[in-house]
Parts: sequence; structure tokens; C-alpha cells
Amino acid sequence: MSRNPPDLRPDLAAARTPELRRDGQPAIGMVSLGCPKALVDSERILTRLRAEGYAISPDYAGADAVIVNTCGFLDSAKAESLAAIGEALAENGRVIVTGCLGAEKDYITGAHPKVLAVTGPHQYEQVLDAVHAAVPPQPDPKIDLLPPAGVKLTPRHYAYLKISEGCNHKCRFCIIPEMRGRLASRPAAAVLREAEKLVDSGVKELLVISQDTSAYGTDWKNRPEKAPIIPLARDLGALGAWVRLHYVYPYPFVTDLIPLMAEGLVLPYLDVPFQHAHPDTLRRMARPAAAERTLDRIAQWRAICPEITLRSTFIVGYPGESEAEFQTLLDWLDEAQLDRVGCFQYENVAGAASNALPDHVPDEVKQERWERFMAKAQAISEAKLAARVGQRMEVIVDAVDSEGATCRTRADAPEIDGNLFIDEGFEGLKPGDMVTVEVDEAGEYDLWGRLA
Ligand code: SF4
Repeated sequence: MSRNPPDLRPDLAAARTPELRRDGQPAIGMVSLGCPKALVDSERILTRLRAEGYAISPDYAGADAVIVNTCGFLDSAKAESLAAIGEALAENGRVIVTGCLGAEKDYITGAHPKVLAVTGPHQYEQVLDAVHAAVPPQPDPKIDLLPPAGVKLTPRHYAYLKISEGCNHKCRFCIIPEMRGRLASRPAAAVLREAEKLVDSGVKELLVISQDTSAYGTDWKNRPEKAPIIPLARDLGALGAWVRLHYVYPYPFVTDLIPLMAEGLVLPYLDVPFQHAHPDTLRRMARPAAAERTLDRIAQWRAICPEITLRSTFIVGYPGESEAEFQTLLDWLDEAQLDRVGCFQYENVAGAASNALPDHVPDEVKQERWERFMAKAQAISEAKLAARVGQRMEVIVDAVDSEGATCRTRADAPEIDGNLFIDEGFEGLKPGDMVTVEVDEAGEYDLWGRLA
């Protein structure tokens, strides 16, 4: 093992790309040990720091803190890593340790109790968190490469907030676990930091996404709470923007989220991908929470927060779906009275386990079931929206043109749900405004209203 390359060692390096450090710009040094994979990790960390406006210091003296990316492969590598940490502590004093040896936190802190933080290999966000805590970034919008909230493809007033990647389930129709790997939740501090930046930059609505939002944090070894999504949702709600939760599986602890909605911290909106209602179909799908008594759960949610909007998606024509199973789904929908519903006809996906199931449903039957399902869902939506005529509600303005303003109520997620249109008196409005309207007309999926 060797330290590599020399120009990544603050004590040896004359940086390849000398850079001017502006007044007040925080600077970080990096000692990179170990194999080329560790070197790539170091490059990624430095790239992120550089993009956030940090300077990279070529020496200990000029660094506000030093990251030591360690190797733990052999005893000799461990010894060299400990020596490098000791040197950085002696020369600079503010040291963050990451890399392979970071997996043995006690080993490091036993030898060097003064290190600021220890993170394991590939834990980029945790390293950045530790850097932010030790040396807060000082963004300068005139010269930074990135805006504080990062590059966004959404309009300025709403943004998606991804809280985890991957999934630990094995739904037979889905290949996401193969494509994206097992659940890896972002540290709560990193999610909150991103959310704060978004809100600071003008975002009024945070759309929380993942493959399985309720499972957030359940992959952490020593998680402080059984369901880390609950404190995360509470902390996000405290930022003052609308917080909308997508892809929430109906695990029992989801009920603990509903009081946050009743309190107004989180939007009274849950996007729960039920996919089906018949227990046999759900078992053939291998769905998480398949054994949940979902109608009871929904009744419980509505008892806690009567104004909750429930959105879901369903698959009709799943292999083996009998007419009786489909009818159970229709009856369930009648009872569940969901506000928003999407429905897909089952299709084989290359690599999905469901392809090999027996009794695939003919296309014309899928189409016929889809039409029956959508007719029922539409009738429910229409009746629910008609009941809103005459009500006053807060809406967010998405777009304004010469014909009117396109807005959304708290019950509408962007792109997938309906809209509320204002046709008169909209001239002073602009995207991102939040205004109160009185609803005067309702359609199948949309509302019309006027400023109250
Ligand atoms: S459908 Fe959702 S829960 Fe199921 S495996 Fe795919 S990502 Fe995971």
C-alpha cells in the first residue's frame, strides 16, 4: 500500500491546479491512502466539495480541516492509516476520517479520540455532513459552480427530495431492486440540509420520494427509532414549506405519521401504492404489507385526519387475476373511496419474476378490467370534487398565462393529480404564490375557483 498520488497529500503536494483562494473561502485538505477505489472516492468527495464552493488546500497549514481517506486492508495499511491520522491531527488538528478503516470506528477513536468524525467507505454524504459541521460552507452566488440548492429541473417553487435509494422488497413485477440495489437511506442530516437549502432558495413544496418512503432509515444498524421516517417528516415539516409524502407503504407505524398531518406539519396527503386489494393477488405479487387490513388502516387514518387525501396506483390483469379477484378490487375501491387513483394494465418487464407466473390474462380482458376500474375511480373522484364546490382553500400557483392561472390544492401533487384553474382576476399572480380561493366548479379530476 502506498499513499497516492503525492499531490493529494497536503503535506507533500503542490496542487496540480493551483487555485486562488478568495477571502473567507473555506478550504479542505485531503490525505488519500490505499487503492485506486479509495482514490476515486477521494476524487468524488473533493469534486462535491469544490462544487459547493470549498477550496482544496495543498498543505496542512492552509486547510480549515483535513479529510484522511484510510485503507484497512492489511495490518500494515491500518498502521499507516493511524499514522496518517496522527500526523494530520498534529499538523492541523481538525481531522475527519473516512474510507475502509472508517468501518472500524472504535479502532480509530481508541487511538485518536480527537478526530472530529469517522465515516465508512463510500459514505460520501456522511463525509460531507462532517465537513459542513466542522467548516460550514460559505456560498458565493457570483462565482460558485452550483446554485446553493443544486441544479433543479422542476419549477422554482417545488422540488423533489430523494431520501433513499434502492429497495429491500422483491415484488415479482418489479426489477428496481436488481437495478438500484438494496435500500440505502440518506443520513437525516443530509436530507434536512438539502431541504433547508431548497426552502432558502424559494422552494415552497417539498415532494419526498424514494422507492419505499416508510422504510426510510430501517437499513441503519443502530437506528434511534423504529421508524425514522416519523422524526424526518416532523423535521421537514418544521421548515415551513408544504411537505408531500410519496410511495408510503401501509406498514402499521405509518399511522404515526397521520397526526403530523392533522397538526399541519405535513400535507394531509398520502401516496400509497396499494397495487391490488385481493390477498391472493397481493401474495402472488409478493407485495410488502400484503397482509395488512388496508380498509381498517384507511379508516384509522381518516379518523385521525379527516381531510387526508389518499392517492394510489393499481395493476389490473396481473397473472392469475381471476374475475373474482378483480371484483374484490372493485368492491374494495368502492369502500376505500380513494381520492386519486392511477391504474396500469400488467405488462411483462424483462427480468421480472412475474413473467414466469402461470395464467397470464389476455389483453382484451386486461383492457376491459382497466375500463371498469377507471370508470369507478372517475365516479369517486367526481363525487369527491363536487363536494368541494363552495369551499375555501389555499392553493399554490404553478403557472400563469393569458388565459388564467393553473394552481394546485393541498390534495394535488404536481404532474400526477388534478389542478384548480382560476380564469378571472389572476393577472397579479405568479408561479409559487400561495393564495386562498373559493371553489365554484368541479369536473372529473379538476376544480375551478376564484380568488377569495
Ligand atoms: S414495487 Fe416498490 S416495493 Fe416492490 S420491489 Fe419494486 S421498488 Fe420495491
